[in-house]
Amino acid sequence: MRIVLLGAPGCGKGTQGAQLSPKYGIPRISTGDALRAAVTARTALGLQAKAAMDAGQLVSDEIVIGLVDESISRPEAARGFIFDGFPRNVAQARTLDELLAGSGRPPIDHVVHLQVDEEEVVARLLARGRAEGRSDDNEETIRSRLAVYRSHTQPLLDYYLAQGKLLTFEGRGGVAEIQARIVAALEGGRRPLAA
Ligand code: AMP
Repeated sequence: MRIVLLGAPGCGKGTQGAQLSPKYGIPRISTGDALRAAVTARTALGLQAKAAMDAGQLVSDEIVIGLVDESISRPEAARGFIFDGFPRNVAQARTLDELLAGSGRPPIDHVVHLQVDEEEVVARLLARGRAEGRSDDNEETIRSRLAVYRSHTQPLLDYYLAQGKLLTFEGRGGVAEIQARIVAALEGGRRPLAA
């Protein structure tokens, strides 16, 4: 199964992805985690990505696509994967489709969109910043990330709606309850909420 998790920062993609991954035995691929690891390891790629991440802007498509290409080529991703935080714009989504088709792999099956109110995500991210010390979880950067989400990432909803892959869920509520709705939709092919 090839899944994309889509939604604003703080909508719960990481939490849901971390549970779906063992359930389906497929890796969760977080471009944000991969980029943070590169920044911590001070690799050339990390140094290039850091300024954009600190500003809450998108890292270049070229860097991100390189990471993704490598991740989906690993043997553990042969049966599928769950993208968390990728694609972030339409160009990345098109490139992903081309990468999969060009290498004879099946296309993305489902796009799980978690819808959460903006003020709710700001509150969640500020709490995460205090708990985990993530440097981009401060109010100024959070606002930039939300603006980037609206302008660059939201157009993906139409992109995947047109492909008939979009499943939209209300992202408020308990983790287990949201998970159950996602699993029911993935397994039953039901459309839980009109997008
Ligand atoms: P995340 O952990 O997904 O919230 O990502 C943290 C930061 O990493 C983002 O604010 C971006 O600066 C960068 N990033 C993560 N994924 C992508 C992507 N697919 N395209 C561009 N930048 C990304």
